[in-house]
Amino acid sequence: MARAATAIITLNAIKQNYLYAKSLSKPAKAIAIIKANAYGHGAIEVAKALADVADAFGVACLEEAKELRDIGIKQPILLLEGFFSTDELEYINENNLWCVIHSQFQLEALQRTKLTKPITAWLKMDTGMHRLGFLPEKYLDAWQQLSKMSQVENIVHMSHFSSADELNSPTTKQQQALFLEAISGLPGDISLANSSAILTKAVARQQWTRPGIMLYGASPIDNETFTQTLIPAMTFITKVISQRTITEGESVGYNALWKAKKTTQVGTVSIGYADGYPRHAANGTPVYINGKKSQILGRVSMDMMMVDLSMFDKQNCIGFDVELWGDNILANNVAKCSETIAYALFCGLTRRVNKRYFDKVL
Ligand SMILES: *Cc1c(COP(=O)(O)O)cnc(C)c1O
Repeated sequence: MARAATAIITLNAIKQNYLYAKSLSKPAKAIAIIKANAYGHGAIEVAKALADVADAFGVACLEEAKELRDIGIKQPILLLEGFFSTDELEYINENNLWCVIHSQFQLEALQRTKLTKPITAWLKMDTGMHRLGFLPEKYLDAWQQLSKMSQVENIVHMSHFSSADELNSPTTKQQQALFLEAISGLPGDISLANSSAILTKAVARQQWTRPGIMLYGASPIDNETFTQTLIPAMTFITKVISQRTITEGESVGYNALWKAKKTTQVGTVSIGYADGYPRHAANGTPVYINGKKSQILGRVSMDMMMVDLSMFDKQNCIGFDVELWGDNILANNVAKCSETIAYALFCGLTRRVNKRYFDKVL
């Protein structure tokens, strides 16, 4: 039997989550954000699954967009950081890629470059994230430069929220107010909302939303209400490969992080940080074994970790399925126990993990 570590991806769940994001976005359209290999789920498979419903796709760079064009994806594809160098402009131009423009360098490069037909530019405003974009007071000038260029036919106004996942933070409202003031009187569509802002309905008026993490069924917001409305798309599983009885006072794993307070059945499962299971997962992080809730014991090592099998008494558990996250153990919970976020867990899966796709009928 081959090593069991497998990420099972339910493409239909991603489709349902996209349609849900779209329904919350209405009347705006929704750009399915599938950067970083669709947050670890496989960009090609996810794009194919959404090909007949997605309004557009969003990726981080040209290489990611090219992967989608190469398999015949027809929708517009938004490059979230635009182009990095002018030699990318020809491909952008010929392949209907939408291009974020966030810096003076890009404006000047675009101005210098001859294009066979004009492109759609997404002009980015920095309303407080302080990562990319023109400050509100510089925005009008950037917009004027762009709108005069024959290389550009359409300009969409965009910004990104820094704290939309914090339900009580005033920041989202402040960013939105700055944005609306800076674009007042300018023609063009608006795009502001990521998953958090879509789920909390934080934005009153826009034409394009940008759902990412919610497509994969994890909530960006630390609040159970939001996870209940999403369908987890990834079930990360493996198996128990060894079992032993640990007596009171004995310890388990590196640095003896867990010590038995009483005689305990302990299982070893074939998953570790080299698969992308977080090394920082605390003692007690939940796992789901053969239909029962259990927990990890001691430190996660590279290829293996240990789990509590007490709930099975002295039963032989070798070969039992272990769910690391999925329908029964939310990725958000594992993330919380590991001082990280579900985004990083998904993106962190390594190539050693088998991927299996299926379209569960929901
Ligand atoms: C990644 C990204 C998104 C999607 O964010 P989620 O929190 O995953 O919904 C939206 N907009 C921009 C600019 C991004 O970089």
